[in-house]
Amino acid sequence: MSEFDGLTAIVTGGASGIGLATASLLASRGARVACLDLNPKVEPPLIGILADVADDHSIRAAVLSAADTLGGIDLVINNAGIGAQGTVEDNDDAEWARVFDVNVQGMVRTTRAALPYLRRSSHAAIVNVSSIAATAGLPQRALYSATKGAVLSLTLALAADHLHEGIRVNCVNPGTADTPWVGRLLAKAADPAAERAALEARQPTGRLVSADEVAAAIAYLAGPLAAATTGTSLAVDGGMQGL
Ligand code: NAD
Repeated sequence: MSEFDGLTAIVTGGASGIGLATASLLASRGARVACLDLNPKVEPPLIGILADVADDHSIRAAVLSAADTLGGIDLVINNAGIGAQGTVEDNDDAEWARVFDVNVQGMVRTTRAALPYLRRSSHAAIVNVSSIAATAGLPQRALYSATKGAVLSLTLALAADHLHEGIRVNCVNPGTADTPWVGRLLAKAADPAAERAALEARQPTGRLVSADEVAAAIAYLAGPLAAATTGTSLAVDGGMQGL
Protein backbone atom coordinates (compact mmCIF):
# COMPACT_ATOMS: atom_id res chain seq x y z
CA MET A 1 0.00 0.00 0.00
CA SER A 2 1.50 3.35 -1.07
CA GLU A 3 0.86 6.74 0.46
CA PHE A 4 -1.06 8.14 -2.55
CA ASP A 5 -2.81 4.95 -3.74
CA GLY A 6 -6.19 5.81 -5.24
CA LEU A 7 -5.52 9.56 -5.22
CA THR A 8 -5.37 11.89 -8.21
CA ALA A 9 -3.24 14.98 -8.69
CA ILE A 10 -2.75 17.85 -11.09
CA VAL A 11 0.61 19.61 -11.28
CA THR A 12 0.85 22.89 -13.17
CA GLY A 13 4.19 23.35 -14.87
CA GLY A 14 4.48 19.60 -14.38
CA ALA A 15 6.61 18.91 -17.45
CA SER A 16 9.91 20.32 -16.16
CA GLY A 17 12.02 20.88 -13.07
CA ILE A 18 10.28 20.94 -9.69
CA GLY A 19 6.88 20.18 -11.24
CA LEU A 20 8.11 17.12 -13.10
CA ALA A 21 10.01 15.83 -10.04
CA THR A 22 6.84 16.26 -7.96
CA ALA A 23 4.58 14.60 -10.53
CA SER A 24 7.01 11.67 -10.80
CA LEU A 25 7.28 11.29 -7.02
CA LEU A 26 3.51 11.35 -6.49
CA ALA A 27 3.08 8.80 -9.29
CA SER A 28 5.79 6.55 -7.81
CA ARG A 29 3.83 6.60 -4.54
CA GLY A 30 0.58 5.53 -6.16
CA ALA A 31 -1.15 8.70 -7.43
CA ARG A 32 -2.56 9.15 -10.92
CA VAL A 33 -1.07 12.44 -12.07
CA ALA A 34 -1.77 14.94 -14.84
CA CYS A 35 0.86 17.54 -15.76
CA LEU A 36 -0.76 20.77 -16.98
CA ASP A 37 1.84 22.64 -18.96
CA LEU A 38 2.45 24.92 -21.95
CA ASN A 39 4.64 22.13 -23.25
CA PRO A 40 2.97 19.01 -21.86
CA LYS A 41 5.46 16.36 -23.03
CA VAL A 42 5.82 13.78 -20.24
CA GLU A 43 6.47 10.05 -20.06
CA PRO A 44 3.77 7.59 -18.95
CA PRO A 45 2.37 6.98 -16.43
CA LEU A 46 2.25 10.78 -16.22
CA ILE A 47 -0.46 12.34 -18.36
CA GLY A 48 0.38 15.58 -20.18
CA ILE A 49 -2.37 18.14 -20.77
CA LEU A 50 -1.86 21.39 -22.65
CA ALA A 51 -2.63 24.36 -20.40
CA ASP A 52 -1.73 28.00 -19.99
CA VAL A 53 -2.34 29.13 -16.41
CA ALA A 54 -2.44 32.72 -17.70
CA ASP A 55 -5.58 31.93 -19.74
CA ASP A 56 -8.75 31.17 -17.79
CA HIS A 57 -10.42 29.31 -20.66
CA SER A 58 -7.33 27.14 -21.19
CA ILE A 59 -6.88 26.24 -17.52
CA ARG A 60 -10.59 25.48 -17.02
CA ALA A 61 -10.57 23.15 -20.03
CA ALA A 62 -7.37 21.46 -18.81
CA VAL A 63 -8.70 20.94 -15.26
CA LEU A 64 -11.93 19.48 -16.65
CA SER A 65 -9.98 17.18 -18.93
CA ALA A 66 -7.71 16.09 -16.06
CA ALA A 67 -10.69 15.39 -13.78
CA ASP A 68 -12.37 13.32 -16.51
CA THR A 69 -9.22 11.37 -17.31
CA LEU A 70 -8.14 10.80 -13.71
CA GLY A 71 -11.62 10.33 -12.25
CA GLY A 72 -11.54 13.41 -10.00
CA ILE A 73 -8.92 15.65 -8.41
CA ASP A 74 -7.67 15.22 -4.84
CA LEU A 75 -4.41 17.17 -4.98
CA VAL A 76 -3.48 20.43 -6.71
CA ILE A 77 0.17 21.40 -7.02
CA ASN A 78 0.30 25.04 -8.13
CA ASN A 79 3.83 25.10 -9.44
CA ALA A 80 3.90 26.87 -12.83
CA GLY A 81 5.88 30.08 -12.65
CA ILE A 82 8.15 32.38 -14.60
CA GLY A 83 11.07 34.58 -13.57
CA ALA A 84 11.80 38.28 -13.75
CA GLN A 85 15.03 40.11 -13.03
CA GLY A 86 15.78 43.68 -12.10
CA THR A 87 14.74 46.52 -9.83
CA VAL A 88 11.38 48.34 -10.00
CA GLU A 89 12.93 50.64 -12.61
CA ASP A 90 13.79 47.78 -14.94
CA ASN A 91 10.31 46.30 -15.49
CA ASP A 92 7.37 48.32 -16.82
CA ASP A 93 3.69 47.94 -15.93
CA ALA A 94 3.07 45.47 -18.74
CA GLU A 95 5.83 43.18 -17.46
CA TRP A 96 4.50 43.43 -13.88
CA ALA A 97 1.05 42.45 -15.14
CA ARG A 98 2.42 39.56 -17.24
CA VAL A 99 4.44 37.97 -14.43
CA PHE A 100 1.68 38.44 -11.81
CA ASP A 101 -0.76 36.92 -14.31
CA VAL A 102 1.24 33.68 -14.44
CA ASN A 103 2.73 33.43 -10.94
CA VAL A 104 -0.24 34.59 -8.86
CA GLN A 105 -3.44 34.67 -10.93
CA GLY A 106 -2.35 31.38 -12.54
CA MET A 107 -2.65 29.77 -9.09
CA VAL A 108 -5.97 31.52 -8.48
CA ARG A 109 -7.40 30.29 -11.81
CA THR A 110 -6.21 26.71 -11.30
CA THR A 111 -7.52 26.61 -7.73
CA ARG A 112 -10.88 28.08 -8.74
CA ALA A 113 -11.30 25.52 -11.50
CA ALA A 114 -10.26 22.63 -9.22
CA LEU A 115 -12.25 23.54 -6.08
CA PRO A 116 -15.48 21.77 -7.12
CA TYR A 117 -13.48 18.53 -7.45
CA LEU A 118 -11.50 19.08 -4.24
CA ARG A 119 -14.77 19.49 -2.30
CA ARG A 120 -15.72 15.94 -3.32
CA SER A 121 -12.43 14.51 -2.05
CA SER A 122 -11.76 13.28 1.47
CA HIS A 123 -7.99 13.88 1.02
CA ALA A 124 -8.04 17.33 -0.58
CA ALA A 125 -4.85 19.36 -0.49
CA ILE A 126 -3.26 22.22 -2.38
CA VAL A 127 0.46 22.96 -2.35
CA ASN A 128 1.65 26.25 -3.85
CA VAL A 129 5.24 26.81 -4.91
CA SER A 130 6.53 30.12 -3.57
CA SER A 131 10.25 30.92 -3.27
CA ILE A 132 12.94 32.06 -0.89
CA ALA A 133 12.61 35.30 -2.89
CA ALA A 134 9.34 35.92 -0.98
CA THR A 135 11.10 36.33 2.34
CA ALA A 136 14.83 36.87 1.77
CA GLY A 137 14.95 40.34 0.22
CA LEU A 138 17.04 39.27 -2.78
CA PRO A 139 18.59 42.01 -4.95
CA GLN A 140 17.46 42.43 -8.57
CA ARG A 141 14.27 40.43 -8.03
CA ALA A 142 11.61 43.06 -7.15
CA LEU A 143 8.86 41.80 -9.43
CA TYR A 144 9.54 38.09 -8.96
CA SER A 145 9.80 38.50 -5.16
CA ALA A 146 6.50 40.41 -5.05
CA THR A 147 4.71 37.63 -6.93
CA LYS A 148 6.11 34.99 -4.59
CA GLY A 149 5.20 37.08 -1.52
CA ALA A 150 1.67 37.17 -2.91
CA VAL A 151 1.76 33.37 -3.13
CA LEU A 152 2.47 33.20 0.64
CA SER A 153 -0.49 35.49 1.39
CA LEU A 154 -2.73 33.62 -1.04
CA THR A 155 -1.80 30.36 0.67
CA LEU A 156 -2.87 31.72 4.08
CA ALA A 157 -6.12 33.12 2.68
CA LEU A 158 -7.00 29.87 0.87
CA ALA A 159 -6.18 27.83 3.97
CA ALA A 160 -8.54 29.98 6.05
CA ASP A 161 -11.34 30.00 3.46
CA HIS A 162 -11.38 26.27 2.77
CA LEU A 163 -10.43 24.71 6.11
CA HIS A 164 -14.10 24.04 6.92
CA GLU A 165 -14.40 22.14 3.62
CA GLY A 166 -11.55 19.81 4.59
CA ILE A 167 -9.18 21.30 2.02
CA ARG A 168 -5.65 21.89 3.30
CA VAL A 169 -3.47 24.57 1.65
CA ASN A 170 0.28 24.95 2.21
CA CYS A 171 3.28 26.17 0.30
CA VAL A 172 6.97 25.47 -0.17
CA ASN A 173 9.72 28.07 -0.44
CA PRO A 174 12.55 26.60 -2.49
CA GLY A 175 16.00 28.12 -2.54
CA THR A 176 17.98 28.09 -5.78
CA ALA A 177 17.08 24.73 -7.27
CA ASP A 178 18.94 22.80 -9.93
CA THR A 179 16.29 22.82 -12.67
CA PRO A 180 16.18 23.68 -16.40
CA TRP A 181 15.14 27.21 -15.29
CA VAL A 182 18.47 27.77 -13.54
CA GLY A 183 20.23 25.99 -16.41
CA ARG A 184 18.78 28.58 -18.82
CA LEU A 185 19.95 31.44 -16.59
CA LEU A 186 23.46 29.99 -16.33
CA ALA A 187 23.61 29.45 -20.09
CA LYS A 188 23.27 33.22 -20.57
CA ALA A 189 26.36 33.94 -18.41
CA ALA A 190 29.71 34.70 -20.02
CA ASP A 191 31.23 31.76 -18.12
CA PRO A 192 28.43 29.36 -17.08
CA ALA A 193 30.72 27.08 -15.05
CA ALA A 194 32.14 30.00 -13.06
CA GLU A 195 28.66 31.43 -12.57
CA ARG A 196 27.43 28.07 -11.31
CA ALA A 197 30.35 27.82 -8.89
CA ALA A 198 29.56 31.33 -7.61
CA LEU A 199 25.90 30.40 -7.17
CA GLU A 200 26.84 27.27 -5.24
CA ALA A 201 29.28 29.23 -3.07
CA ARG A 202 26.40 31.53 -2.01
CA GLN A 203 24.44 28.56 -0.62
CA PRO A 204 25.11 27.71 3.05
CA THR A 205 25.37 24.06 2.01
CA GLY A 206 27.73 24.85 -0.88
CA ARG A 207 25.34 23.30 -3.39
CA LEU A 208 22.02 23.97 -5.09
CA VAL A 209 18.82 22.40 -3.83
CA SER A 210 17.66 19.49 -6.02
CA ALA A 211 14.24 19.35 -7.66
CA ASP A 212 13.72 15.99 -5.90
CA GLU A 213 14.29 17.61 -2.50
CA VAL A 214 11.62 20.22 -3.22
CA ALA A 215 9.32 17.48 -4.56
CA ALA A 216 9.73 15.51 -1.31
CA ALA A 217 8.57 18.54 0.71
CA ILE A 218 5.61 19.08 -1.61
CA ALA A 219 4.63 15.41 -1.36
CA TYR A 220 4.82 15.58 2.44
CA LEU A 221 2.51 18.62 2.56
CA ALA A 222 0.12 17.04 0.03
CA GLY A 223 -0.01 13.71 1.82
CA PRO A 224 -1.70 12.08 4.79
CA LEU A 225 1.29 12.63 7.12
CA ALA A 226 0.52 16.36 6.98
CA ALA A 227 -3.19 15.92 7.75
CA ALA A 228 -2.93 18.39 10.67
CA THR A 229 -1.00 21.00 8.68
CA THR A 230 -2.58 23.87 6.79
CA GLY A 231 -1.61 27.50 6.15
CA THR A 232 2.12 26.88 6.54
CA SER A 233 5.18 27.39 4.38
CA LEU A 234 8.12 25.00 4.35
CA ALA A 235 11.53 26.28 3.27
CA VAL A 236 13.68 23.93 1.18
CA ASP A 237 16.61 26.26 0.75
CA GLY A 238 19.72 24.61 2.14
CA GLY A 239 19.57 26.84 5.22
CA MET A 240 19.64 30.10 3.25
CA GLN A 241 16.69 31.61 5.14
CA GLY A 242 17.91 30.80 8.60
CA LEU A 243 21.61 31.61 8.21
P1 NAD B 1 11.14 25.20 -15.05
O1 NAD B 1 11.27 26.35 -15.98
O2 NAD B 1 12.13 24.10 -15.08
O3 NAD B 1 9.67 24.58 -15.20
C1 NAD B 1 8.54 25.41 -15.24
C2 NAD B 1 7.44 24.71 -16.03
O4 NAD B 1 6.30 25.58 -15.99
C3 NAD B 1 7.79 24.49 -17.51
O5 NAD B 1 7.47 23.16 -17.90
C4 NAD B 1 6.93 25.51 -18.25
O6 NAD B 1 6.51 25.08 -19.53
C5 NAD B 1 5.74 25.62 -17.29
N1 NAD B 1 5.03 26.89 -17.46
C6 NAD B 1 5.55 28.15 -17.53
N2 NAD B 1 4.58 29.05 -17.75
C7 NAD B 1 3.41 28.34 -17.80
C8 NAD B 1 2.06 28.71 -18.02
N3 NAD B 1 1.70 29.98 -18.28
N4 NAD B 1 1.11 27.73 -17.99
C9 NAD B 1 1.47 26.44 -17.79
N5 NAD B 1 2.73 26.03 -17.62
C10 NAD B 1 3.70 26.97 -17.61
O7 NAD B 1 11.08 25.88 -13.59
P2 NAD B 1 11.35 25.33 -12.10
O8 NAD B 1 12.70 25.81 -11.68
O9 NAD B 1 11.01 23.89 -11.98
O10 NAD B 1 10.30 26.24 -11.30
C11 NAD B 1 9.04 25.75 -10.92
C12 NAD B 1 8.48 26.65 -9.83
O11 NAD B 1 9.41 26.72 -8.76
C13 NAD B 1 8.22 28.10 -10.28
O12 NAD B 1 7.02 28.56 -9.70
C14 NAD B 1 9.39 28.85 -9.69
O13 NAD B 1 9.08 30.21 -9.42
C15 NAD B 1 9.63 28.06 -8.41
N6 NAD B 1 10.98 28.21 -7.88
C16 NAD B 1 12.06 27.82 -8.59
C17 NAD B 1 13.33 27.97 -8.05
C18 NAD B 1 14.58 27.57 -8.78
O14 NAD B 1 15.68 27.97 -8.35
N7 NAD B 1 14.49 26.77 -9.83
C19 NAD B 1 13.48 28.53 -6.77
C20 NAD B 1 12.34 28.92 -6.07
C21 NAD B 1 11.09 28.76 -6.63
